[in-house]
Amino acid sequence: QAKVAGKDCFRFYSRSMDQAVERWVHLEQELRVAWERGQLSIAYQPVFRLGDGALVGAEALLRWNHPELGLVAPSVFIDVAEQTGLISVLGPQVLQAACADAATWCSAEGTEPLFVSVNVSPRQLRGGDLPDVVSRCLAETGLSPHCLHLELTETAVIGDEANASLMLDQLRATGVKVWLDDFGTGFSGLSHLRRVPVDGVKIDRSFVADILHDPDDLALTTAIIAMAHSLGITVVAEGVEKEGQYALLRERGCDLAQGYWLGHPLALPELLALIGQPTPPRA
Ligand code: C2E
Ligand code: MG
Ligand code: MG
Ligand code: MG
Repeated sequence: QAKVAGKDCFRFYSRSMDQAVERWVHLEQELRVAWERGQLSIAYQPVFRLGDGALVGAEALLRWNHPELGLVAPSVFIDVAEQTGLISVLGPQVLQAACADAATWCSAEGTEPLFVSVNVSPRQLRGGDLPDVVSRCLAETGLSPHCLHLELTETAVIGDEANASLMLDQLRATGVKVWLDDFGTGFSGLSHLRRVPVDGVKIDRSFVADILHDPDDLALTTAIIAMAHSLGITVVAEGVEKEGQYALLRERGCDLAQGYWLGHPLALPELLALIGQPTPPRA
């Protein structure tokens, strides 16, 4: 009896593993042609300055509208792209498109230039040609380097500090700003900030989520802000979903913020409509 169950069990797992592999391979093949088929687009989430509530830039977030599956989460397809190496094609395409979009709003007259912030995956950083890819995108789109920010996760940098700081030095020398994304989740933040030259950190939204109720999360967030400022770098809070979080972060001296309470990721025309609008009064 047990033997039979065991056998069935094995068959079940092996079949579902086959299916998972099949789906994965399928997803990769579809992702390979998704760009040329117009299934990929970029959403822009507005980023605001806490001091005066002004719109200062936007984060580019890739969207895949799959013909059968609908919207596929970036956490799924970026992972596929990263694991299969497809990111080395997709990454530069996203960067180029985001720079081209930002060139239209960055040159808007009479307004403070708004930055575009583009996510860069660990593999792109390890590739070694990131500074060249960035320079080419800037040259081809005419975007000012000061309008471009790159977001790297801590995991991209960990264990690879020598190469990472070389890349980052080259990038920053051109005027591009570099931010550490999802800061605080890698348990390594403090020591890495000494060795890896960045312009800012983005506090992961898992810290921001509970600052109103969890004194530990508030203490950590406050400490990150203080530490970043003592190093002379900017702090961005992610995942601001409530007015109270915004007010508290502002009180603690956080520089910039983004989140659903402030603004969801938008299609380009919606972002452009937002630019130049008067700053809404906020807590
Ligand atoms: P991320 O860079 O940390 O981006 C922030 C994520 O948080 C986005 O998810 C955004 O939609 C979401 N978010 C923003 N405000 C809120 C909020 O108030 N509450 C909650 N719960 N979530 C909020 P999204 O667009 O699903 O992207 C997930 C991740 O996928 C990104 O995390 C980034 O790591 C990656 N990603 C997205 N686009 C790209 C890309 O073009 N290249 C690379 N390498 N990675 C990308
Ligand atoms: Mg990001
Ligand atoms: Mg993030
Ligand atoms: Mg995050």
